[in-house]
Amino acid sequence: MKKLIAGNWKMNGSQAMTQDLLGEINSGLNGALLDNCEFLVFPPSLYVPTALKNNGPYMRVGVQDCSVHESGAYTGEIAAPMIKDIGCSHVLLGHSERRQYHGESDETVCDKAKAAYVQDLVAVICVGETESQREEGKAFDVVGEQIAKAVPETATADNTVIAYEPVWAIGTGKTASADDVAEMHSFIREKLAERFSDSENFYILYGGSMKPENAAELLNTPNVNGGLIGGASLKADQFLAIAKAAT
Ligand code: PEP
Repeated sequence: MKKLIAGNWKMNGSQAMTQDLLGEINSGLNGALLDNCEFLVFPPSLYVPTALKNNGPYMRVGVQDCSVHESGAYTGEIAAPMIKDIGCSHVLLGHSERRQYHGESDETVCDKAKAAYVQDLVAVICVGETESQREEGKAFDVVGEQIAKAVPETATADNTVIAYEPVWAIGTGKTASADDVAEMHSFIREKLAERFSDSENFYILYGGSMKPENAAELLNTPNVNGGLIGGASLKADQFLAIAKAAT
């Protein structure tokens, strides 16, 4: 299984930055990295067409969210058929920032994933506990419930990627320890095994302040099949160094 190295640009960048950053990353994707990793990026939606013109042969492009609806009077929303139509392969769902600032529930995330499946898009479904939930010893209950409710029954290893992102580690510089990550990823794998016959083949990514300095340890932790990278995905040298650490 190759490692999946995915960048979440969040609400950052411009057309010029999209072109430059992807150009720099593409020129660094050499044999060893391509043998060991797959690459994916989630730019802001407005820059997806620019990304699709500059992504080269190895970088897939996804959108950071999608509507549960196929079309209609939903101002500001982007429908899964549109994401397919423009040429994307993936959609990021249930990121903690969407849960926190847009009130997304597990049920909504589940409906969005189903809308993505109809278009043959891969749903990257984010789960993760807050700092207070971890301190209260509830991390496994919280993540278990998110997996139970946000991942549709029709999920398969081909249409779904799970991203474990402890909320307290996102954009904070704090990273979960390799032991905690190993324990949580193995728990997620068990939860998937209770429902899906191809659970062993699901990609489970770690996300939360991944950077070149901690990537080798995190990416070589059991059941970690790649990384979802925020801040460090905005710098080509850091993104490439993280991929290199995976090899
Ligand atoms: C993210 O937003 O998915 C993320 C992991 O961010 P960061 O790497 O900046 O913590």
